[in-house]
Amino acid sequence: MPIYLDYAATTPLRPEARAAMEPCLAGAFGNPSSQHAFGRAARDCLDAARDLVARCLNAHAGEITFTSGGTEADNLAITGAARSARSRGAGTHVIVSAVEHHAVLHAALALADDGFSISLAPVDRHGRVDPEDARRLLRPDTVLVSVMAANNEVGTLQPIAEIGALCREHGVPLHTDAVQAAGLIHLDVDRLPVDLLSLSAHKFYGPKGIGALYVRAGTELAPILRGGAQERERRAGTEAVAAACGMAAALELAVAERPVEAPRLADLRDRLAQGLRGAIDRTWLNGPESSERLPGIANIAFEGIDAEALLIALDLAGVAAAAGAACSSGALEPSHVLAAMGLPAERLNGSVRFSLGRGTTGAEIDAVLNLIPAIVRRLRRRTGAAH
Ligand code: PLP
Repeated sequence: MPIYLDYAATTPLRPEARAAMEPCLAGAFGNPSSQHAFGRAARDCLDAARDLVARCLNAHAGEITFTSGGTEADNLAITGAARSARSRGAGTHVIVSAVEHHAVLHAALALADDGFSISLAPVDRHGRVDPEDARRLLRPDTVLVSVMAANNEVGTLQPIAEIGALCREHGVPLHTDAVQAAGLIHLDVDRLPVDLLSLSAHKFYGPKGIGALYVRAGTELAPILRGGAQERERRAGTEAVAAACGMAAALELAVAERPVEAPRLADLRDRLAQGLRGAIDRTWLNGPESSERLPGIANIAFEGIDAEALLIALDLAGVAAAAGAACSSGALEPSHVLAAMGLPAERLNGSVRFSLGRGTTGAEIDAVLNLIPAIVRRLRRRTGAAH
């Protein structure tokens, strides 16, 4: 049986989410903007999905904008908030952390081409932003700060509450990319001082191609897609009604199951990380040892091996894992996250992300623990890195 340890890349659609999509795929197929009965039926489904997503975050339905996924939610947050601020004359300075997903980093770089100035907040060796660094970077013309809730490569959780409090003090909105955190970390926007928060359904067993941006009431945001007046004029385009229903059902279940599922995953993650480090010398855990990490991610550096070679060997043995983020070209580039954490070159090239999820069992972890030491020894012998 193949073993899937790449849940941070994507998760399978859970049956309950698929079931929630069925009525909109068949009966309620109308355009939610149409005034007739078909349109109203679709609108009811969309409204119910929006209500449910909002409730899962302790937000109001009007604060939820559906998007095509995490990438669009991030782009809308970064570009929309920055452009809106500039048009009000509020400033042109944006701060993002150095370990953000490319959806945030590249959106910020595009702003730089458009006349904004961008500051990268550094991270420590665990991949964590020090709120004091964020404080130092804040300027009178800062219009947005973006720091992710949890990192997709190493799983490090960021001190969002502290950074948000700081942003509040300075009257600057905070965006957080919660794509990896949703369903695994408690997210309550009533308590968390964030103004914009990105979600992606396919990371919590919902369908691909749907996500959402939480926009706190009163936060100014310019649309990036032009067209109709959908989504309160924040995101033009006919809404993906069925996908929104699948997303809402998946999020509700993930939030309900979190108290049991998160500790289960954390136990399996620790068993994997400790087992690998115990069995193979010169093997390290990237990121914090503490509880300040996602329950499902173990990013392991195997010194003296090439991550790509290990991934190919694992794939041949039926185990799916990843090096850093999944990359559309299929080619491995050095991880900007691990580089920002200051990993030495020999660990940078030999780091593999194992991400666990609902289907992961103790038997799977044991099977992987039986497999990897021999592969690493073989690869090290081949490259002369064994000693
Ligand atoms: N942000 C983070 C932290 C992610 O891990 C991902 C996906 O890997 C994204 C954004 C992009 O989400 P999507 O695949 O829905 O576009």
